[in-house]
Amino acid sequence: MPPAPPRFLASVLLALIAPAATGAEAPARSAPMRPGGSNSPAAVQPPAPSSSATVATRKLRGLDYVSVAEVGKRLGLAVTESERGRKARLAGGKVEAELTHDDRDATINGLRVVLGEPAQASGGQLFVSRVDFERAIAPLLRPGFGVPARPRPRTIVLDPGHGGRDQGTSVNEKTYALDVARRAKPLLEAAGFRVVLTRDADVGLELFERAGIANQQRGDAFVSIHFNALPSDTVTSGVQVFTFAPAGQHAAEWWSTPMRGADPHLEKSEMPVNRHDHWSAVLAQGLHRRLVGDLKAADRGKKIAHWGVLRPLDCPGVLIECGFLTSAAEARKISTPAYRQKIAEAIAAGLRDYAAALDAARARGAAVAAGATGK
Ligand SMILES: [Zn+2]
Repeated sequence: MPPAPPRFLASVLLALIAPAATGAEAPARSAPMRPGGSNSPAAVQPPAPSSSATVATRKLRGLDYVSVAEVGKRLGLAVTESERGRKARLAGGKVEAELTHDDRDATINGLRVVLGEPAQASGGQLFVSRVDFERAIAPLLRPGFGVPARPRPRTIVLDPGHGGRDQGTSVNEKTYALDVARRAKPLLEAAGFRVVLTRDADVGLELFERAGIANQQRGDAFVSIHFNALPSDTVTSGVQVFTFAPAGQHAAEWWSTPMRGADPHLEKSEMPVNRHDHWSAVLAQGLHRRLVGDLKAADRGKKIAHWGVLRPLDCPGVLIECGFLTSAAEARKISTPAYRQKIAEAIAAGLRDYAAALDAARARGAAVAAGATGK
């Protein structure tokens, strides 16, 4: 049994003894709650388990870092450190994470997650950046930790990348992206979601227009669908999932740029979509797990970038790269309708998993609230 802080333990116990709270929290479909809206269910929020202002931090590399031991304590997970604090493992229940000194690559719940900053060993202990703790690690290990609960998503916005004169990496990208979105739509509708496509024809749209459609349609989750390409590389294959970079963090690609600094790939202020970083990470994990697992595709990681299509969003959003059209083997698969159907099914399953994670987080919050008021 991992060490658990009293509040977290209480929430686990309450979740176990108060399962009836689960269904009661589903909002009426006629009264959609907006993120941060006045009708946000304050009563079902957990009792501020992570007032981040109180997280003990230390300056490393000029940034706020949190010890993995503190992360474990906050999230109620067992921490095992080895190699004099150069490696650490967090584990508890069905979740686990592995972190390494001087490395942005983490393994979280079996998936490759590229952090915004490298983990750092100091004084025999491993530390992670506070932003990574709050916006990349906590959401994947404890969805809903330290943030307001969100209602179950009603409207899913699928954004087939490119279109019209913008064909993407090749004419196939815009065509396959639209085909996958059209295949995913009925699967999601069958699961009870309302589905909006930003385009349902071979037409071009500006990036801000795509996010604008999502905002106008009061989308609850946004998925931009793409296929990848690498010039003069016919071998690299696999899937990638992106969320918008938190303020002050470099895009993943900046780290591998030989001339770091020419373009910092960094934005200093919060963009609209950054209000949803926590749930975007949870959404990314749902899709990431299904794309890697159900397609048996190589895991090229969950990364951050400054995609213009995500920046203006009023809801959680991700951009997915469903495979490489420059990989001879993967392109052959993607060219078949059967494989594109599998991609669509993985996307639909990932969104269903995301909705289930929101349900579970609300149920935990409701259980804590019921316990707090003695009901
Ligand atoms: Zn693309």
